[in-house]
Amino acid sequence: MSEHSVWSYSAVLMGSPILLKLFSHDEALASRVFSLIKQYEDLFTVNRANSQVMDINHAAGRHPVIVSRPVYELIKCAKAASQLPGSAFNLAIGPLVKLWRIGFKGDSVPDADEIAARLCITRPQDVILDDAATSVFLAQPGMEIDLGAIAKGFIADRVRDYLHQQGISDGLINLGGNVQTLGSPQGGWIIGVKKPFAAGDALVGSIEVVNKSVVTSGTYERYFEQDGKLWHHILDPRSGYPLNNELDSVTVISTDSLDGDIWTTLLFGLGVEKGCALLRQRQDIEAIFVSKNREITLSSRRQFHFTPLDASYRLTD
Ligand code: ADP
Ligand code: MG
Ligand code: MG
Repeated sequence: MSEHSVWSYSAVLMGSPILLKLFSHDEALASRVFSLIKQYEDLFTVNRANSQVMDINHAAGRHPVIVSRPVYELIKCAKAASQLPGSAFNLAIGPLVKLWRIGFKGDSVPDADEIAARLCITRPQDVILDDAATSVFLAQPGMEIDLGAIAKGFIADRVRDYLHQQGISDGLINLGGNVQTLGSPQGGWIIGVKKPFAAGDALVGSIEVVNKSVVTSGTYERYFEQDGKLWHHILDPRSGYPLNNELDSVTVISTDSLDGDIWTTLLFGLGVEKGCALLRQRQDIEAIFVSKNREITLSSRRQFHFTPLDASYRLTD
């Protein structure tokens, strides 16, 4: 067996197929990684009755809830991202996510009145934090935190850290949308960028990265169709409706997957032009925008090499 043999381990966690790649045959390590992911999922989930985040939500309008350090830190970071000027990211989007039920049974376009009512209980500044107590208080009854857009990124980074601690220099974790890589086997990890709405594993291109996270958010990942329109799962916190612009997907290349998660949502909200302009000030974040009109725009090419793989898409410059 060559020293470059890849061993793949899979599981289903956080409602997604999870893939771990290592260069050693180590079932025990793989199962420790999967239980680490599960421990974090149990803290953050809002798709079950109980978790630390659900404890906060259940106490909305009533009292603060003391949470563990990782939950507190992730919420603090999510609140800061939500309060950036013009941010499309909002950690308090829960009531709208629950109303739309996108990707769950019985999803349909809600009444405009109901959307407007829920918008009033999604204000990030009503998430009250206490650093000393590590407590979180939702000031309005009915408020709900939803970490669905960033929990995977946070967890992917913890898996990377854990593998480093275990002396692993090359590896990959794919949490479904979030890929975090360690090292550079044979020059780099090749990561595919999915072709929106295509069947199977069709790609518009691939990138090669070293020690980077690659996060993709796409309208095609979860949606339903009604009245001849497509309603997808990334909501505009200003309108309460799915973000509607020229984009099908955004892929972000960054060191931390948590940044990738935040930036995919921010860039989705900004669109190609404003997004690229903002990224000119950020050496550490790069993006690949895939537009509905079949254009691919790269914000820059510092940290990755992009290979186009679909002739029906045009690479802009
Ligand atoms: P995926 O679930 O495919 O990884 P994202 O990372 O974009 O996609 O996260 C989408 C999820 O984030 C939604 O299912 C919902 O739970 C939550 N969400 C939707 N809109 C927003 C928003 N504007 N800000 C923060 N979280 C959001
Ligand atoms: Mg995601
Ligand atoms: Mg995201």
